[in-house]
Amino acid sequence: MNQPVRFDDAVVGAGILGLAHAERLARRGRRVIVFERDSRASGASIRNFGMLWPIGQPLGGLRALAKRSLAIWLDVLAAAGFWHERTGSLHLAYRDDEAQVLREFAQESLDHGERVELLGAGAVGRRAPAVRLEGLQAALWSPEEVCVDPREVVAGLPRWLAEEHGVVFRFGTPVTRIDPPALIAGTTPYAAERIWVCSGDETRLLFPDLLQRSGLVRCKLQMMRSQPYGDPWRIGPLLAAGLTLRHSASFRNCPSLAALTERVARESPWLDRYGIHVLVAQNGRGELSIGDSHEFDEAIEPFDKAEIEEWILGYLGTFLTAPALRIASRWHGTYAKHPTEPFLILRPAPGVRVVTGVGGAGMTLAFGLADQVVSGELDVLPAGM
Ligand SMILES: Cc1cc2nc3c(=O)[nH]c(=O)nc-3n(C[C@H](O)[C@H](O)[C@H](O)COP(=O)(O)OP(=O)(O)OC[C@H]3O[C@@H](n4cnc5c(N)ncnc54)[C@H](O)[C@@H]3O)c2cc1C
Repeated sequence: MNQPVRFDDAVVGAGILGLAHAERLARRGRRVIVFERDSRASGASIRNFGMLWPIGQPLGGLRALAKRSLAIWLDVLAAAGFWHERTGSLHLAYRDDEAQVLREFAQESLDHGERVELLGAGAVGRRAPAVRLEGLQAALWSPEEVCVDPREVVAGLPRWLAEEHGVVFRFGTPVTRIDPPALIAGTTPYAAERIWVCSGDETRLLFPDLLQRSGLVRCKLQMMRSQPYGDPWRIGPLLAAGLTLRHSASFRNCPSLAALTERVARESPWLDRYGIHVLVAQNGRGELSIGDSHEFDEAIEPFDKAEIEEWILGYLGTFLTAPALRIASRWHGTYAKHPTEPFLILRPAPGVRVVTGVGGAGMTLAFGLADQVVSGELDVLPAGM
């Protein structure tokens, strides 16, 4: 066999986690190579809303990680010149129980020094004119959230990382074996002091035993994108409504959440069956990204369900007035998540770290998590640990 090609770091996967690891490593002056099995990354990282959404992380360590991540994201977005908008977010409440949960959440957030605000219908109308105001009881405004275009960022970051930071990319090159410091990618042997496996929900192919024991589950989400809306029609903030309150871990301390969850289960059990809640973001081209649903493991089929789309669009219409909305594309994405942990960092062999299971928060957390993992390893452990 040929002599292996040597790097300081090999990253498996050019989704957002792999790219964030490559960025954090290359910034330290390390020689980094990234392997992506497909000719371009087309996993969860290009299939999401592009919401950088700290408000979706529970107060405490995860919220702090999300904010750290956002700060790095903003530096990278500015340096690489990608479209992004510091939109902030609104959670909209049309029912008494939803408004009560928002009040409880706002109080807890203010007690922790967070910059949230409860708004009435008039203030929402000024900030987000496309929001339906009839029946709107309250809304929670958070100024932190940022919208990116995931397709643009994930396609463009490799070029920027290569040009600005000397990262080497090998697309169309699956890693089929890791035996540190060696790995086989395509037909070529490589060697790296550290190997960072960020292969999304496909990690079990490389480490079947480890992943089987990890407790990770796979989740499928259905999504839609609208036709582009021309200027000046913009939705402004990223939007969520009452269903999201029962979905997002951030609201779990609110005493009134149980009653809201019970009411939704009673009124509309089909929403729970498919884990439906509705978020909407608008990218720089004016398109709305609309979703989503959550189906797990054995329930996952290759075929998308028209009824899920109908329920999502029906619910969207309760809070957004989008003129002549037309769905221009539909797709689904999958990710791995853990039932109790926000992400998993596994150590299958010395010098190898698997970073996965970041679920529905991978865009938000990517750079903060990569920063934490890389500095946790390089600033503390010598190579080979
Ligand atoms: C529909 C949807 C909406 C979402 N919305 C949001 C959102 O708005 N905000 C948010 O924070 N998060 C969101 N998420 C979650 C987020 O998209 C994911 O957590 C994140 O993209 C995971 O990134 P990743 O790099 O781990 O995985 P992926 O993007 O799946 O990347 C893994 C890459 O590894 C490659 N690969 C796999 N095996 C190998 C191998 N052996 N060799 C080489 N390459 C390999 C794959 O081809 C793939 O490109 C959403 C997810 C979905 C599905």
